[in-house]
Order: sequence, then structure tokens, then C-alpha cells
Amino acid sequence: MSQASAIASKGSLKDQIQIKLAELADLVSEDQYGTDGPGKETTFREIESVGYQVAQLAAAKFEATATQQHQQHFETAQPCPQCQQTCQPESLLQRKLLTRLGPVALPEIKFHCNACRRSFFPSA
Ligand SMILES: [Zn+2]
Repeated sequence: MSQASAIASKGSLKDQIQIKLAELADLVSEDQYGTDGPGKETTFREIESVGYQVAQLAAAKFEATATQQHQQHFETAQPCPQCQQTCQPESLLQRKLLTRLGPVALPEIKFHCNACRRSFFPSA
């Protein structure tokens, strides 16, 4: 691999994230203030408040995607934490979780051990 392509591939995902964030910033600004951006009387506090809401939305989207991907580890049979007997997934629940940036719905696969007569959530 050439040095240039090594640098390009090393930075490509981070670069793509920066490009998407810049696009997001433009869209939010246009949505919030119109194509000319914030008016002359807009304070930094007001801009910061919008930025915080954007952070909340971005965090919620990321957390939803990552938890969905993480959940795939638990779609197959799992050992009961008490007796180690193999148990099949029973149902998928949505748990409301309060994060530092607000509430998110967390998918959780519920397992039930017939031997112990207990439910467990291995992804939690
Ligand atoms: Zn058990």
C-alpha cells in the first residue's frame, strides 16, 4: 500500500464523519434560522441551546444504531447466568433508558430459563 493510500484509508471514516457533521450543521442552521443563518440579534446562548438539541438527536441516533448492532450478539441461545443451561431468546422488549442526553429506547432480548423459572437479559 502506498503512503498516500495508507493515509487516505486511515483518515477516511473520520473524514466522512466530519463531512456528515458539516452537512448536519448546515441543515440544522437552515432549518432553525433559514438560509442566511442566525440573525444579528441571536445570542451565543441561543445557538448553544440548538447545538445541545442537535447533540441529543445525534446521540440518540448513534445509540439506537449501536445498541441494535450490539443486540445481534444475543439473538442466539445464551447460557442461564444461574445454572448455565442453554436458553433460547423469548422476546424482544424496548426498555426506556434515561441517558445523560435524554431518554432513549433500548432494545433488549429477554431469555427465560425453565429450570430456574427466571428471566434474564444478557445484553444488559
Ligand atoms: Zn437457569
